[in-house]
Amino acid sequence: MKGWIIFSIIAFCSIIVIDKITKLILRIPKVNGYLGEKRVSRIIKRQLKENEKILNDYRFKTRDGKTVQIDHIIIKTNGIFVIETKNYTGIIKGKESQLEWTQISRANKKYKLYNPVKQNENHIHKLIHHLQQNLTVKSLVVFTKADIKSLENIPNVCNLKEMKIILEEKSTTTLNKNQIEDLYNILITRKENIKDKEHIKNIKIMQENIKNDICPHCKVALIIKKGKNGYFKGCSNYPNCKFTKKI
Ligand SMILES: [Zn+2]
Repeated sequence: MKGWIIFSIIAFCSIIVIDKITKLILRIPKVNGYLGEKRVSRIIKRQLKENEKILNDYRFKTRDGKTVQIDHIIIKTNGIFVIETKNYTGIIKGKESQLEWTQISRANKKYKLYNPVKQNENHIHKLIHHLQQNLTVKSLVVFTKADIKSLENIPNVCNLKEMKIILEEKSTTTLNKNQIEDLYNILITRKENIKDKEHIKNIKIMQENIKNDICPHCKVALIIKKGKNGYFKGCSNYPNCKFTKKI
């Protein structure tokens, strides 16, 4: 009898400890991001027709040595989609033109995030360069959990439910089985094995450049300009590069 009581207490405590550890692990951004990407990829896979393809966590290097990581590339009959998954919680606020958006957590704390629409456009631009193909790619930013009601007017930003509908939308340009297969093979051969460590190092260099008023894409100085919403810093390579930074 005594043995059973001790066993029960140990079992009960273990469950609490495991639960606490699980919650802590889920708070690690890398784990959280990974789980979000897995979830999105599972949902998309279920939706794909037999000859349609998906590539997850697609990585490559640009000619100037920058690393690019794309969450999902989907090649469907109705088009090519590049998806950026955001597994944030809380409320997300931002405008299409802003460089930084805000996440308001459940504890009412505010965090900055780089505008994911711009981030994904930049990924697509680099991908087209990398593949040297004349492709029409549709950009999608998918928030798996967050409240994105205030982002309603921003095109290409959606939740999981909306993503499923957008992926089925009819398109004027369609791809046949061979075209899908060809593009998939090009993507596979041009995919590179880049370690997380290298990718994170590259992101840090990019952030450092922005801080020092250097365009992260062209490595030239950012200069002060005047727009309709006041002064801002922009790349001196404009109009070839449209990078901007708030003052
Ligand atoms: Zn630039």
